[in-house]
Amino acid sequence: MKAVLPTLLSLLLLSACQVPSSVSKTSATSPAGDELKIALPPLLVGLEGPTWDEVQPVEEKFPGWSRPIDNTYTRVTTSRRVLAITFDDGPHPENTPRLLDMLKERDIKATFYAVGNMVKYSPHLLRRMIAEGHEIGNHTVSHGNLARMSDESLLKELRTAHEQILAETGVPPRTMRPPGGAIKKSQKELMMDEFGYPTVLWSVDPEDWKRPGPSVVTSRLVNGASPGGILLVHDLHKPTVDAMPATLDQLLAQGYEFVTVTELIELDEKPSETPSDERTEDRR
Ligand SMILES: [Zn+2]
Repeated sequence: MKAVLPTLLSLLLLSACQVPSSVSKTSATSPAGDELKIALPPLLVGLEGPTWDEVQPVEEKFPGWSRPIDNTYTRVTTSRRVLAITFDDGPHPENTPRLLDMLKERDIKATFYAVGNMVKYSPHLLRRMIAEGHEIGNHTVSHGNLARMSDESLLKELRTAHEQILAETGVPPRTMRPPGGAIKKSQKELMMDEFGYPTVLWSVDPEDWKRPGPSVVTSRLVNGASPGGILLVHDLHKPTVDAMPATLDQLLAQGYEFVTVTELIELDEKPSETPSDERTEDRR
């Protein structure tokens, strides 16, 4: 059973198309004028990280950015030697805890684009991510192709995943990544209006989901890295996690500092504008 579990989860993720009618245990809305109350997730007890009192009150929409933001990022322009590494499609019950141990050992902060249909099997892993200083972004519930969805379906996907992450962690996602990078310009604008989400793509894609082997994943990531870059990998796949110790150690040795996606966006030195690139891949 153990050996087939990742395969089953992969199939589940690929085939999943249902959006739960409600996964929220904590409403993101608050009665007029009332401060939002956030329940203490029990699994936070005993973990290192911020105490619940330190978590900022949640804004339902338009979380505070200190500067104007674009509606799409593939990287940022910065003089600092920083990278954001992003892990998509988890959390995976075995690979993700192993990855979190690797990150903790190196004091590296990452961003996880979690998928709703995976979150419901390991919600405690989301709480661990937040407790250990990582960030969680919205990667939808079903991992379907957003570019083929109606606005109504897209908003339901994003809203359900948003409320799920908020309910499990007390921290709302502040960015989104479309599955496969497939997204229309009008949809990006809709998500910015509705959720305040910039669309986060990537500057380096090692195609780790094709399982080229850990050493190939490492060399593609290390060779592709540049200051302000966004690295795309998937904690769903064991060989990707196997590639991380060498990848992270080599990038650290090159003087890179790892920041979360929102930290990276805050470091952008480029004047705000709306990039026009559109991506249509739908396999990631
Ligand atoms: Zn994905």
